Amino acid sequence: MYWIDTHTHIYMEAGITQQDACMERTLSAGVKKIILAGVDRNAVKPIADFCARHRGNAFAAIGLHPTDVYENYLDELAFMENMLIDVNNGSNNSNGGGNCGSRYVAIGETGIDLYHDKSFEKEQEAALEAQLQWAKKYNLPVIFHVRNEAGNDNAMRKILQILHSWQDGSLRGVFHCYSGDTGQAKQVVDMGFYLGIGGVLTFKNAGALPEVVKQIPIEHLLLETDAPFLAPVPYRGQKNESSYLPLTGHKMAEILNRSAEDVADITSRNAEILFGI
Ligand SMILES: [Zn+2]
Repeated sequence: MYWIDTHTHIYMEAGITQQDACMERTLSAGVKKIILAGVDRNAVKPIADFCARHRGNAFAAIGLHPTDVYENYLDELAFMENMLIDVNNGSNNSNGGGNCGSRYVAIGETGIDLYHDKSFEKEQEAALEAQLQWAKKYNLPVIFHVRNEAGNDNAMRKILQILHSWQDGSLRGVFHCYSGDTGQAKQVVDMGFYLGIGGVLTFKNAGALPEVVKQIPIEHLLLETDAPFLAPVPYRGQKNESSYLPLTGHKMAEILNRSAEDVADITSRNAEILFGI
């Protein structure tokens, strides 16, 4: 039995020593594989370096996060697509991005975030569509980030609308840190995407999430930490890390009235199928 953390930013830890100590704790906690989600150009090299040091346990994604979309987003995307082509073709390193261990296993995170700032809303959508194009072209799954403006569900409605028009059966991916309602969760899985379930599941005010976990078949669920953010109880409010993933897994098992072993086996298999790891 082992767990897989399908979304972490372990490379944001300051310094290689701390990062590697964190990976030791992660492996000791039974979390055998982790996926490092990209956010911007600056994350590319730290992710590549980490994955090269932890080959077989750490896997790289590359993408432009919606809150990192600014005027220069086309340059950022061009840099990333070149990196993706180089690395996944095996030619590696030619533009200083480092060696990502083997190859990129996903695109992301990308999506729509209207929580902090709506001024680049159109550019966020354009960046998302560019990355959906990569997903089709390079046959890779996508890690979606969605965050609504406070008080409505505009970002979720927008991304569902965009994906409905793009999904021709060839797109695969996960809605990371899923926080929508059950009806939207059904639309997500009907389109063939997975739901990433994070530490919020352990919170007292977990909202609709426990109900979503009950209503959506476990074959469509993945586990994640989003470390260093959103630590599960009893570490809520502190810095999160991948070694805390089993706390969320055990909570899922409790909600579903299944064994932790079942939840680990099934969610790990889901992750292995989606990301080809
Ligand atoms: Zn993230």
